[in-house]
Amino acid sequence: MNRQQDFVLRTIEERDVRFVRLWFTDVVGSLKSVALAPAEVEGAFREGLGFDGSSIEGLSRIFESDMLLQPDASTFQLLPWRGNIEPTSRMFCDILTPDGEPSMADPRHVLKRQVEEAADMGFTCYTHPEVEFYLLRSDEMDANGHPQPVDSASYFDHVPGGIAQDFRRKAVTSLEEVGISVEFSHHESGPGQNEIDLRYADVLATADNLMTFRTIIKEVALLQGIYATFMPKPFSHHPGSGMHTHFSLFEGERNAFFEGGREYQLSTTARQFIAGVLTHAPEFTAVTNQFVNSYKRLWGGGEAPSHISWGHNNRSALVRVPLYKPEKGQSARVEYRGIDSAANPYLAYACILGAGLKGIRERYDLGDPTEEDIFSLTSRERRVLGLDPLPSTLHEAINVMENSELVADILGEWVFDAFLRNKRAEWDEYRQDISPFELRRYLGML
Ligand code: GLN
Ligand code: MG
Ligand code: MG
Ligand code: MG
Repeated sequence: MNRQQDFVLRTIEERDVRFVRLWFTDVVGSLKSVALAPAEVEGAFREGLGFDGSSIEGLSRIFESDMLLQPDASTFQLLPWRGNIEPTSRMFCDILTPDGEPSMADPRHVLKRQVEEAADMGFTCYTHPEVEFYLLRSDEMDANGHPQPVDSASYFDHVPGGIAQDFRRKAVTSLEEVGISVEFSHHESGPGQNEIDLRYADVLATADNLMTFRTIIKEVALLQGIYATFMPKPFSHHPGSGMHTHFSLFEGERNAFFEGGREYQLSTTARQFIAGVLTHAPEFTAVTNQFVNSYKRLWGGGEAPSHISWGHNNRSALVRVPLYKPEKGQSARVEYRGIDSAANPYLAYACILGAGLKGIRERYDLGDPTEEDIFSLTSRERRVLGLDPLPSTLHEAINVMENSELVADILGEWVFDAFLRNKRAEWDEYRQDISPFELRRYLGML
């Protein structure tokens, strides 16, 4: 038993914790949870907890169904929303094979491999996500088949007595109670749309935090009798929900992206990182934007990027370098704006980081920034500027990903295949569906 594990056992005892939830994530990013009696925790630390992985998406084939959950004691956390009557806690788990090796099917392990890759190059990766989501009256549609937002407010609106405000206050309090620091929260542009920005943390902690974040947001909403959704584009005529994420690489205490006096204060390392991300973005878009609906956001305006470009403070760019603030010291960072709020954070961050590291390793050259508003250009103007599009559908994205050596390498063969299988099935189902659009448009006319 190591010190962290001892601490967990002691806390369970002292706080009279009744349930210890073991959390892990499947390939599409759904949170899985098994509740353990406190008396079983010591054994789980020692030997792992056996479970049948065969019914978890992407985890295992039937004949290799025995897996072990190894709780990561450093992620132990009491969960606030169940109150103090029956204290509940959780730990994230690594998934192991029966002989104790990391499972190739574990998304958390996929990200850990990139974290190690970064460490081998001397870097620690920090991330700061801005998560957008909609608050709805319920998960049911109105009479016209549309979701029902809780308000009709817009960007930064302060609504006296508003539901969203009250929600954000409760959500932020609950997040801070589990050790997730919130930097910023506000109403976003769409009706009922909100954004909460988490303080930066190392990339693995951020991915864990995002899994916790989604759970807490949904729980707090339900407690208030409303419904929170991370669906990338619930409304045709309102902006989608992105999960812009800021990346930086540190060498010890030093921000390796910062170099005073250069263009946008960006070091060569930062430029190579951006070049890696831009070059490989089409290959990993199926991962950062994994649903049929994700492409309605990317191609639906509302400040979501659809073309491959980078820019300084350009909100139409796929990669944005935020305005340099001297008072913030070495705050140089790179914002990836393509990813949406429904991505599996482990796999998506592994891809973005892995692509950036490849750019550094192979000294990619970064082209010129685009400072035009790409949304307002014609397609001819975009061609002249050499702005290539991101994949426009899940189908296109899967096809590009399938030929990517880099993404196969980052995800590992197992997750790569499982992911593609899952996404092909989704696409096949989608293309057989007769949508309300078609019925509206064709039934009475033809
Ligand atoms: N909602 C937009 C997106 O989907 C972002 C809007 C913003 O924060 N500027 O990316
Ligand atoms: Mg923001
Ligand atoms: Mg925003
Ligand atoms: Mg942003």
